[in-house]
Amino acid sequence: EVRVRFAPSPTGGLHLGGVRTALFNYLFAKKHNGTFILRIEDTDQTRFVDGAEQYIVDCLAWCGIAPDESPQQPGASGPYRQSERKPSYRQYAEQLVASGYAYYAFDTPEELTAKRTEEPNFLYGQKSRMQMRNSLTLTQSEVSELLAQNAPHVIRIKMPADEQVTFTDMIRGVVSFDTNLVDDKVLLKADGMPTYHLAVVVDDKAMEISHIFRGEEWLPSAPIHILLWKYLGWADKMPAWAHLPLILKPDGNGKLSKRDGDRLGFPVYAMNWTDPKTGDLTKGFKELGFMHEAFVNLLAVLGWNDGTDKEIFTLEELKANFSVERISKAGAKFDFEKAKWFNHEWIKASSVERLALSVKSELGKSGIEVADDEKLATVIELVKDRCTLLPDFVAQTSYFFASPAEYDSAAVKPKWNADKAAFFEEFANTLNIDLSAVELEASFKALAESKGLKPGEVMLPLRIVLVGGKFGTGVFDIVKLLGKGETQNRIAKGIA
Ligand code: GLU
Repeated sequence: EVRVRFAPSPTGGLHLGGVRTALFNYLFAKKHNGTFILRIEDTDQTRFVDGAEQYIVDCLAWCGIAPDESPQQPGASGPYRQSERKPSYRQYAEQLVASGYAYYAFDTPEELTAKRTEEPNFLYGQKSRMQMRNSLTLTQSEVSELLAQNAPHVIRIKMPADEQVTFTDMIRGVVSFDTNLVDDKVLLKADGMPTYHLAVVVDDKAMEISHIFRGEEWLPSAPIHILLWKYLGWADKMPAWAHLPLILKPDGNGKLSKRDGDRLGFPVYAMNWTDPKTGDLTKGFKELGFMHEAFVNLLAVLGWNDGTDKEIFTLEELKANFSVERISKAGAKFDFEKAKWFNHEWIKASSVERLALSVKSELGKSGIEVADDEKLATVIELVKDRCTLLPDFVAQTSYFFASPAEYDSAAVKPKWNADKAAFFEEFANTLNIDLSAVELEASFKALAESKGLKPGEVMLPLRIVLVGGKFGTGVFDIVKLLGKGETQNRIAKGIA
């Protein structure tokens, strides 16, 4: 049975790399009729941020990849927050001590700092552990006494000397680590909380996780986790590993980080995130006007393809076609222009029904209420090819719903004169709205010529009068959509 988990730490906004990790877990689960779990890794209370968990839940919901089991929707392997699983971890750390794979360390923070100042490259590990204060260097009775006094202590894994930890990663193939280069990571902290390394293994076991998809930045932790699976006696239950390629900056120069968003001028978060302490807002793809379908699509092809040139995928297609074999080892460059291209393609391909709610809400943000849904549908169909991001619909459609607040009078040369006003009045009075846009144009031109005006002299003024500026779709399509009364009103207002 396939059981996968997305295991974010609730420390802030969700970076697009995090959403992609969630997406690949989700797709793998759905492809194999498995279960997709959200587990909140909040053991590090110092990094815990209020609201971050809800934000993660909201992001997954927005993307349409909600988990099957989560803190909000618990299944049989809860609780789904590590802070609520605290009592379960110590016994495993103690078990590791008892079996000789881990040890108590009593070094105070001051002692550790002093050591690190003395030796900037200090690693608590095979070479140095015998100079420190721990259950490997103290006598049995000293250790018992310290424990009896409740002396603050951590539990550290005892990395073996001269071993290769080798495993087969589903994406990277055979990977090996030299244990001499890995330090004795803390497993249980002085406050009794597990570190990430212990908690992740204990919980993946408890939740019967079958496959682990996570970012490549966790690859160096894999040897620690694999040894823990063995040392805890669970080697036969160990999940399969898949470390996802990094998402790189546009120039390919290093990992796209949370801070890059501001620097590079595009968002790296899925949705807007407001830091509860500073009040600082970091912008997200959603609020910028990305469709969730496009966002999911562009994330899916960051490091994955279906073996063809196809780039546009619905979530249903992704679920059906996703395959680990086609995830690349190489990092994927993130290109914001390409991201916008995806959104444009999605807007063009989406039905009016799909777009209507989004467009209404964008218009609403600009204070424009839409009452006529039929008109909205026609308008959307007319302009959607010109919109890249959802807010583009405001500029492209608002003039259909609200008469111009101001006129780009500089665009009309020479300015209005009495002749033209009379012409427009007559055009308005004799307007036959039942004509097609093409017929309206012909009758407009004929009327102009009968008044001794060149069509070119009155076409742009008509547009300015109707929409306020040099923009918008075909002017007689606009007349048709505005209808007779509104066209007359706008002409009257414009020439007044
Ligand atoms: N809590 C880790 C994170 O924040 C999870 C890493 C893993 O999936 O093992 O990314």
